[in-house]
Amino acid sequence: MKWKQPLLSLKPYQPGRTIEAVKKQFGLDHIVKLASNENPFGCSPKAEAVIRNFTPSLALYPDGYATELRDAVAQHVKLKPEQLIFGDGSDELIQIISRALLRPGVNTVMATGTFSQYKHNAVIEDCEIREIPLIEGAHDLPSMLEAIDENTSVVWLCSPNNPTGVYIKSEEIYEFLSKVPEDVLVVLDEAYYEYVHADDYYDSISLVKQNKNLIVLRTFSKIYGLASLRIGYGIADEAIIKALDPARPPFNVNAVGQAAAIEAIRDQDFVEKCKQTNIKGLQQFYQFCKEQQLKYYPSHGNFILIEFGCDGNEVFEFLMERGFIVRSGVPLGFPNCVRVTVGSREQNDGVISKMKEFLAAKATLS
Ligand SMILES: *Cc1c(COP(=O)(O)O)cnc(C)c1O
Repeated sequence: MKWKQPLLSLKPYQPGRTIEAVKKQFGLDHIVKLASNENPFGCSPKAEAVIRNFTPSLALYPDGYATELRDAVAQHVKLKPEQLIFGDGSDELIQIISRALLRPGVNTVMATGTFSQYKHNAVIEDCEIREIPLIEGAHDLPSMLEAIDENTSVVWLCSPNNPTGVYIKSEEIYEFLSKVPEDVLVVLDEAYYEYVHADDYYDSISLVKQNKNLIVLRTFSKIYGLASLRIGYGIADEAIIKALDPARPPFNVNAVGQAAAIEAIRDQDFVEKCKQTNIKGLQQFYQFCKEQQLKYYPSHGNFILIEFGCDGNEVFEFLMERGFIVRSGVPLGFPNCVRVTVGSREQNDGVISKMKEFLAAKATLS
């Protein structure tokens, strides 16, 4: 076969272990999955009711333009419907943007220690990849700016950043956007936007109004609790959306997902409750880290990256054998860390007590 050469060097995305597989392997009957930053409280009851009562024929294609969902999201972000693009998860939007703009001869700039899919798609498109290391979990925007040249096509930002949870400061992003050339697309991935609880977080919608080369990505997979239905959206100037749209597959957003997402975005009380509960959950982990003198990154997502000072896989295995699936930092570029999704109070207490057992066992060994 005449495969694109770079494809041969890639592995498919390694998802977290499934609950069923872990149950079977370790003979456990109760597993808590805190590996993929899903919402431990599920989705809005109103969205769930729509899913249970979904009646349109499954034989028909969904609305390819996602008209009603588009209107609901436009109303929510107070922009025109034409400023939105929907994807089969924001993962698909990353793919669409890559397909539209990346190719041999251009380069793309991103952080290293960030969401894996920016690089993954760039490798497939066979362009040059310029990775700028994070500083203390944060994007190094001045160095990213320096890496941009006349062949740069796309810059990827993730705020709050997965897996560190650190967000980009307002004044830094303003400064950065004012200096990026107008023909370079800046992608601002805000998958965890709704969890941010910092007073000085920028207003990304007004950034879109001010910058014609910016696209903001958001998703229904995280705080909205609809990961299985795969819906993400991009927000940008109309001209960007118009250019990207032909690269989008015709019926990419499924009908059940569209119906559920409409209810989900209207139920901001549910979102606010989840946000507040998550802040309390983060406090449980901060307290544990302080007690145990573990380094952690202050997070504005629904997850926390904790440094254990040993192989992250070891912590991961220990917790898995005891019924808690977390994410090892090894494949994420943080080999001494694990990333834990913030769960319910009980789930957090549970995983923290096992982490304490791990540290105690380590201490006796050494
Ligand atoms: C989870 C996640 C996504 C993917 O979200 P989907 O909408 O489920 O595809 C994108 N970016 C980041 C940073 C994420 O953590």
